[in-house]
Amino acid sequence: MDATAAGESALENLYCLRCNREVEAGQKSVAVYMFAQTVGIRPRQKSSAQRICFCPQCSVSLAMGPPPEGALNIAAWQMIRDLVSSDPALNQAAWETLRAIEGLLPATGTDSGGHRNGAAGYFEF
Ligand SMILES: [Zn+2]
Repeated sequence: MDATAAGESALENLYCLRCNREVEAGQKSVAVYMFAQTVGIRPRQKSSAQRICFCPQCSVSLAMGPPPEGALNIAAWQMIRDLVSSDPALNQAAWETLRAIEGLLPATGTDSGGHRNGAAGYFEF
């Protein structure tokens, strides 16, 4: 497989298909590769491969959610469910992302610092 055949570097930075968050190369994510190929027709033709990205949070969220509409969507959903259910590493990655975002948000508590692990008032909606 010649991955650099097209000579494009546009694939370096991708965006999560669901939340549009940028997924940098090497960052934890789920990539869905898709290509089409003719069968029983000569000459055999093969489309270029598409790469679709989901951040860990969206992967887990999708997998936990109800099946989407559309045959292709369901196929992708089942693949993601497969990944999410087979190993907790992806869930872990989703939690890490969530925690990183939490850290970026300004403190909403009245007292800054002190008890970081205090469960009370952790979820504020
Ligand atoms: Zn996402």
